[in-house]
Amino acid sequence: MLDTNLKTQLQAYLGKLQRPIRLIASLDASAGAAEMKELLQEVAGLSDLVSFDESGTDARKPSFVIARDGESTGVRFAAIPLGHEFTSLVLALLWTGGHPPKVEAAVIDQIKGLEGDFNFEMYMSLSCHNCPDVVQALTLMSILNPAVKATVIDGGLYQAEVEERQILAVPMVFLNGELFGSGRMLLEEIVAKLDVKSDEREAAKLNAKDPYDVLIVGGGPAGAAAAVYAARKGIRVGVAAERFGGQTNDTMAIENYISVLETDGPKFAAALEAQVRHYDVDIMNLQRADKIIPAKEAGGLVQVQMANGAVLHSRSVILSTGARWRNVNVPGEAEYKNKGVAYCPHCDGPLFKGKDVAVIGGGNSGVEAAIDLAGIVKHVTLVEFADALKADAVLVSKLKSLPNVTINVNAQTTEITGAGGKVNGMSFKDRVSGEVKHVALEGVFVQIGLVPNTEWLKGTVDLSRYGEIEIDAKGHTNVPGVFAAGDCTTVPYKQIVIAAGDGSKAALSAFDYLIRQPVVAARAEEAVAA
Ligand code: FAD
Repeated sequence: MLDTNLKTQLQAYLGKLQRPIRLIASLDASAGAAEMKELLQEVAGLSDLVSFDESGTDARKPSFVIARDGESTGVRFAAIPLGHEFTSLVLALLWTGGHPPKVEAAVIDQIKGLEGDFNFEMYMSLSCHNCPDVVQALTLMSILNPAVKATVIDGGLYQAEVEERQILAVPMVFLNGELFGSGRMLLEEIVAKLDVKSDEREAAKLNAKDPYDVLIVGGGPAGAAAAVYAARKGIRVGVAAERFGGQTNDTMAIENYISVLETDGPKFAAALEAQVRHYDVDIMNLQRADKIIPAKEAGGLVQVQMANGAVLHSRSVILSTGARWRNVNVPGEAEYKNKGVAYCPHCDGPLFKGKDVAVIGGGNSGVEAAIDLAGIVKHVTLVEFADALKADAVLVSKLKSLPNVTINVNAQTTEITGAGGKVNGMSFKDRVSGEVKHVALEGVFVQIGLVPNTEWLKGTVDLSRYGEIEIDAKGHTNVPGVFAAGDCTTVPYKQIVIAAGDGSKAALSAFDYLIRQPVVAARAEEAVAA
């Protein structure tokens, strides 16, 4: 089941085990069970510290638990964790076997301190690139705290369960039988959600911070580049971000960042963070800004109020809050979100295998999604409002060559319909004839672009009619000492390399502004002298 290369790699990893572990399988007569048994036997054959037995009696068959020797509980995989989840399997083996995780000590303490009973069931697909983070977070939590139980379920292997629970997007996590969350979630986010007192503690920590020279709000490519450029000036820099890495966390392959031939989104996001951490930058992750209060006088402190109530102060601020998926805003979209309405074809495409789906949007992302989905699903109906597809010609011609795609231009989506709690169709109006058509299908992928994360700035910072922050060529906003960069601004072409370039530019502009303020000029001189 594992090829020679994987076996060699796994054997090397298993050399890091510090104590014996057991793989306890609950099997039945299915083909999946035979495959799982073969995999587990192969893993056990690679280390004397790993044993395999079939004594499990769990109701989910096939499944297996990774337990410490002498114990029978641990993270449960109702899955054959290969593909994107192979790393999750390796980490689960290592962590159960005593190998320390690369997680901050404060987070480990927070996990160990969680009180209550937390029974997580997490649905994933083996091709979902957002799932491993959630699998690994829940795995680690269950290893560190016996009050946390985690079962990782492959939707492809447990189709009946997926149908019954109406799961049409992964990752999807249930806690004690109730929906806990869907989409990519980081360990820190999950822990913060469970640790009810963490907001108060975090607010107290933030309130105690000294003022910054540059405070960056947003930790995507624009914010990260701004942080690196500002930190290299030897001034005090902070980054407050709801989710460090921004949209790159949700990106599959990145092939157009100059000097990097190809990488994937999560790797890119991790590299952004590593580079920022290399400098003296105060990273405040999982922190959402709610309000900005301009300085009372020229050169004074700008205040940024956070969602948890804390207030950060800074001599200058760079806004780099990026953008998020745009909703189509028709009846049924909100109601059937994750019940057939999806936004990430790479993640959720496999859940619609053999089914009929629609893609709304004929730009690059819509046409790419339709091409991708056409290889998995039975049929794709693409709906574009304009009178022609706006995607690159090469993509359009590829799309037109596919036999299982129907293209509708001049088509306005009017409703996503459903029954029994899930999507069963979509209606759209032919904008030329006025005729309304209804197509029966099970999934709708909304691919109509992005909306800037700037609602919290309304009334303080000038925004365009699309909600983008108005900036000049140097990244200045209308508010003195406040700069902006990246997808949240009026700069055209929302791309990583552009956001990063603009982030650097905003940092240089902020520094230029600061050296013209008396206090910071002195601090900058000290830094240069040192
Ligand atoms: P973002 O990446 O959106 O980051 C915004 C940051 O601000 C995040 O940290 C967010 O958590 C934070 N934030 C938001 N609101 C607040 C708040 N109120 N308080 C605190 N923090 C906040 N571009 C390419 O060049 N190549 C590609 O291949 C590519 N593929 C893509 C695929 C997908 C699926 C998507 C969604 C985008 C893709 N892009 C690609 C576009 C690219 O990801 C963006 O242009 C880029 O990430 C923009 O960077 P940014 O820093 O401006 O914003």
